[in-house]
Amino acid sequence: MFFKKVGNGFANLLFPDNIKCFFCGDDVPDFEYKPFCDGCEKKISFNNKKRCLVCSEPIDDDKVVCDECKKTKRYFKRAFCPFVYEGLVRKVILAYKDSNERYRAKTFAKFMAEDIKKSGVKIDVITFVPMTKKKQRKRSFNQAELLAKKLGEILGVEVVPLLKKVRDEKSQKFSSYSERQKNINGLYALLDIPSHKDKTILLVDDIITTCATVNFCSMLLSQKFKEVYVCAIARNRLRKNKDVEF
Ligand SMILES: [Zn+2]
Ligand SMILES: [Zn+2]
Repeated sequence: MFFKKVGNGFANLLFPDNIKCFFCGDDVPDFEYKPFCDGCEKKISFNNKKRCLVCSEPIDDDKVVCDECKKTKRYFKRAFCPFVYEGLVRKVILAYKDSNERYRAKTFAKFMAEDIKKSGVKIDVITFVPMTKKKQRKRSFNQAELLAKKLGEILGVEVVPLLKKVRDEKSQKFSSYSERQKNINGLYALLDIPSHKDKTILLVDDIITTCATVNFCSMLLSQKFKEVYVCAIARNRLRKNKDVEF
């Protein structure tokens, strides 16, 4: 059972695509209850098997925490990612990001909210990974910001911009984990905000690939907040795919 039944007539009028299977567009009997068809259900890469307790990366062996989280200091307590970034899930995320299918944010956020609620973690404030103004103009919207707003509506938590992106990185397509980590340093900065050392913050991004971005942003946020959590639609399966796309 994925979602509680709720009155949603108005939302569906605004976003007619929201009543079809979220992944293939076929008819589904009750979108609010289950937003995908039976055929897609078997193919959706839910991140519900063994995953790293910290970064949510799927792991195949007996480990509880992945190798990367063991050797790299993580400034966030835990990452929530309801999907693995592959196959059908990758397809709809790219449609959301590259084809401007903004209506998808609400359903993505529902899955993200479910993952957070299951954990019992309490979030006081939500923020998101920012874009440079130049990139945002090119993309027309910040995917992470829209997800954060939808998540805030579902969880009843305030969403505030707390970070800025100083400049865009060079193409990252073939950089290794450590190169990626180094390149990230200095790309983001905190806005001028007061300390909230009694509050937990949730940082939202669209996909987590190497954790370099969310870890650096978490380091900044940890200077002002008690605990940092991270949430994204999907987690990349890093071990099997060294040349990850950014
Ligand atoms: Zn389907
Ligand atoms: Zn990990």
